[in-house]
Amino acid sequence: MFRLKEHQQACYVSIPRNEHNISRKDISENALKVLYRLNKQGYEAFLVGGCIRDLLLGKTPKDFDIATNATPEQVQTSFRNCRLVGRRFRLAHVMFGKEIIEVATFRGEHDDQKSQTNISKRSQSGMLLRDNVYGTIEQDAMRRDFTINALYYDVKDFTLRDYCQGLQDLKKGIIRLIGDPQTRYREDPVRMLRTIRFAAKLNMKIETATAEPIKALAPLLKNIPPARLFDESLKLLQTGYGYKTYFLLREFHLFEQIFPNIGRFFTPNNTSNFERIIEQVLKNTDYRITNNQRVNPAFLFAVFLWYPLIEQTQLTCMESGLQFYDSFSMTINDLLSEQCRILAIPRRLTTTMGDIWRLQLRMKKREGKRAFAIIEHPKFRAAFDLLEMRASIEKGELLNLTKWWDEFQYAPIEKRIVMVKQLNKANRRRVKR
Ligand code: ATP
Ligand code: MG
Repeated sequence: MFRLKEHQQACYVSIPRNEHNISRKDISENALKVLYRLNKQGYEAFLVGGCIRDLLLGKTPKDFDIATNATPEQVQTSFRNCRLVGRRFRLAHVMFGKEIIEVATFRGEHDDQKSQTNISKRSQSGMLLRDNVYGTIEQDAMRRDFTINALYYDVKDFTLRDYCQGLQDLKKGIIRLIGDPQTRYREDPVRMLRTIRFAAKLNMKIETATAEPIKALAPLLKNIPPARLFDESLKLLQTGYGYKTYFLLREFHLFEQIFPNIGRFFTPNNTSNFERIIEQVLKNTDYRITNNQRVNPAFLFAVFLWYPLIEQTQLTCMESGLQFYDSFSMTINDLLSEQCRILAIPRRLTTTMGDIWRLQLRMKKREGKRAFAIIEHPKFRAAFDLLEMRASIEKGELLNLTKWWDEFQYAPIEKRIVMVKQLNKANRRRVKR
């Protein structure tokens, strides 16, 4: 079976234009501009990674990445519209309005003797803290994550270069890490999440050796900066394959690493409210993305964490003797700060999450002017969507409450006044009794 060792020199198979389906008309004009200019200045430059993989699969690429032998600084002098980003992994971004063409200099092998220098550095768990050793295209291919992501397209003669038998894996539908899986996951634990993401997105099988170390190494995700994990979590859950990805994340014990407060409540048959609401929101999210509707990560995370919030609130009530509402507010803060230590959910999103949660309590009290104020709240629609999901899971009183709000929000003002009067009357009767 194919498995090149880290130090082995890769040689490549060249696939001529008439043997692959990649046409220049499917490539972003801006990416072509960057390739042409770098070539013209005497540098090697190739399209690489997800764009080639997706074009070969007949899919539309999300973005176009370029690999070159020019250093980031040389790329910057070639393009006025260029900025350098990244510390762990220095890159050049060439900006064309909204489109960013990412240009990476060929990565080389790590020399661990140099590990204390600024160029390459590893942590105790084997994680690469800096990865700025430059090298040849052959070395670059070996530093990439999966065989299917190490295919290079040369715009000079329209050939494809396959260094790691990626084409064969692509045809067979196999996700295979390049090199020794343990080492590659230790170098960058996010690769475990990428294995799952591509398996779900591309509907491919994970090769046995690539799958094998994940469960044991899953805790290494703790060492990843929360901002990077947040970005990765959106790619996992909000790009149209969230439902499938969620089950794979669970299977490989990765989900509980990013959402420890939910992982605690998993049941063998997926029957808890926690699990049912996650499945439902992910199905809805995938559906919305497929139909080009907007999705909001604040809503997704608010749904994910709703039942843990209630559970923890009840615990705090029992332990501290606080009233439910006070304990609820306190738990919101605790839960969010705990979650943000792992995933850096930006403040504008946590504020929305708090609003959606608080509205769940407020929506129970509709008398007087309250209902009129609630539907004016900017997050009412999202809060109502969560209420509806909870009702479909919990049934009972929540179904009536959801029905009432559904009617109220679309009713003309006269009807709304009548609805609230009826509520007030019913309430007075209840109080008298
Ligand atoms: P998509 O953009 O569709 O999510 P992609 O494969 O293009 O998928 P990017 O994150 O854009 O993913 O990365 C571009 C390429 O860089 C990858 O195809 C891969 O070759 C390489 N790469 C990205 N992340 C890593 C990593 N953590 N380790 C090794 N190589 C990586
Ligand atoms: Mg990409």
